[in-house]
Amino acid sequence: MSNKVIIFSAPSGAGKSTIVNHLLKLREELEFSISATSRAPRGQEQHGVEYYFFTADQFRQMIAEDKFVEYEEVYAGSFYGTLRSEVERIWAKGHAIVFDIDVQGGVNLKRIFGEQALSVFIQAPSVEVLRERLVGRGTDTEEAIERRVAKAASEMEFAAGKFDYVLVNDNLETAFAEAEKVIGEFLEK
Ligand code: ADP
Ligand code: 5GP
Repeated sequence: MSNKVIIFSAPSGAGKSTIVNHLLKLREELEFSISATSRAPRGQEQHGVEYYFFTADQFRQMIAEDKFVEYEEVYAGSFYGTLRSEVERIWAKGHAIVFDIDVQGGVNLKRIFGEQALSVFIQAPSVEVLRERLVGRGTDTEEAIERRVAKAASEMEFAAGKFDYVLVNDNLETAFAEAEKVIGEFLEK
């Protein structure tokens, strides 16, 4: 099967970026889909690397022009979306697209791509562990951490039964091995 996509969703802090970055280093046929967003860059983030950064007005203009496969207002005033041009860019290279996307976006993408897609939900062992990881990461304010943790419980409930695979990220080495296996099987199909 060509033109494959692999979708990773998780409550923020569950370890999605850690696992995705590990897989991207391991397999050169995987390429990360760079989302567009209207949130401000965090830390060393650069336009065209972690995200394509736009203002909310620019983002709304692109929505009006039907430039997105999917988009969402993940937090009030912060839009995130996948540009059609990004999907075409990666498939044109013969690569499989890796999406790192919120839970609602992941479910939407699975609906759009169907059998071409493997959707993986990454879960922290508990909400407390999730909070600890967000605090440990040190990139979010206390208020943002509380917002993300509050959202996590409803995301886990919403996700139940909607993903092809659920990966519990407790021990990291175990989670890496499990991710390598399930992605390998999908790519070799
Ligand atoms: P997400 O992309 O889901 O928001 P990150 O990958 O940024 O989450 O992980 C959140 C924090 O938790 C990071 O500081 C990361 O190093 C740490 N982390 C990820 N997986 C584990 C794990 N299995 N055990 C302990 N810490 C972890
Ligand atoms: P962050 O601000 O932590 O980078 O991301 C916030 C949330 O937006 C995360 O859950 C992330 O997965 C999600 N996100 C990133 N890109 C997209 C996208 O293209 N579409 C949607 N719907 N969500 C996205």
